[in-house]
Amino acid sequence: MEKGLVLKSTGNRYKVRLENGKTLDCVARGRLRLNEIKTTNPLTVGDWVDVEVRDDGTGLITLIHERKNYIIRKATNLSREAHIIAANIDQALLIVTITQPETQLAFIDRYLVTAEAYRIPTILVFNKVDLIDESLKPVLNSYISIYESIGYKCLQVSAKENINIDLLKETLKDKVSLLSGNSGVGKSTLINLIEPGLNLKTAEISAAHLKGRHTTTFSEIFELSFGGYIIDTPGIKSFGLVDIDKNELYHFFPEIFKLSEKCKYYNCTHIHEPGCAVIEAAEKGEIAPSRYLSYLSIYDDENEKYRPKLK
Ligand code: GDP
Ligand code: ZN
Repeated sequence: MEKGLVLKSTGNRYKVRLENGKTLDCVARGRLRLNEIKTTNPLTVGDWVDVEVRDDGTGLITLIHERKNYIIRKATNLSREAHIIAANIDQALLIVTITQPETQLAFIDRYLVTAEAYRIPTILVFNKVDLIDESLKPVLNSYISIYESIGYKCLQVSAKENINIDLLKETLKDKVSLLSGNSGVGKSTLINLIEPGLNLKTAEISAAHLKGRHTTTFSEIFELSFGGYIIDTPGIKSFGLVDIDKNELYHFFPEIFKLSEKCKYYNCTHIHEPGCAVIEAAEKGEIAPSRYLSYLSIYDDENEKYRPKLK
């Protein structure tokens, strides 16, 4: 019996990397059930499994190890089953740009909420810093100060001018990382710079995605030559918001969560209650207005009608 990492899953066949470095094709034994939720696929990339190596060199997966986290997507509108996209993710890197294209703060916030809900630490990678001139500098700085003050690490890189690419590699080294970003932010260019040769795949996938041919998508995990793995999830710019209980949404805004213990009511929604420490902080500008607006908007679009006066 050997332990291995699932690198690729296509239907019911899996490519598994054993701890001894060998890669082999595997099938799974009929009833492999680890999932807490009902899913269309029992196994996913990033899963650690036990494998029985057979005489013909293929493997039989007999056990899935407990996952530290996983990301899912609803399979279809009709089915309530979910599709597991990847498991055991150490970190997510969200690639964003201030210009060409301009990444919206609301988009970043939605991504971060989901990552928090999945318990995946996220790093913001600001690409294309070569395009930051004097007029854009304050914009970049304000983005960075919003997120650094909450505790998110921010990197400033340029794929074009090779700025901080070593730092990016260091960040990825020996970790399983999910790379995300709106199209056009330079994800493919960065991946190609970090690991020449992986680029093709990303391009292929996004082309297929554009044509809407992604009825079934298979995630793949790529090994980095300097150590670590990148998970590429076809067709996913970001992961969609999971079903988050409205009343728990504030748990996933770290700065709001921290303040919430000072609210007068234990079941405060931080939207209209008297004695709410969050509203107070938002009014004083101690919470970034964009963050609080994102909270309101995700909580319930209708509640956007109620807005405390923000600085
Ligand atoms: P993706 O959709 O995120 O994979 O983006 P691409 O890697 O295809 O890049 C989109 C465009 O941005 C291409 O024209 C790249 O040459 C350009 N690009 C990528 N990185 C940088 C950068 O750091 N600076 C500048 N100025 N352009 C970049
Ligand atoms: Zn409150």
